[in-house]
Amino acid sequence: MQEVITFECTACKNRNYTSTKNKKKNPDKLELKKFCKFCKKHTSHKEIK
Ligand SMILES: [Zn+2]
Repeated sequence: MQEVITFECTACKNRNYTSTKNKKKNPDKLELKKFCKFCKKHTSHKEIK
């Protein structure tokens, strides 16, 4: 039941990362600190559809 999810930079709205997760185990939206090459720094990245 792994589903592909996409992470979007909350600062510039670019979609920088994809990952997979188990939606049954993790129903909540994920938010991670990741490096954004557009912002050239670590920003919060939010899971989007
Ligand atoms: Zn960014």
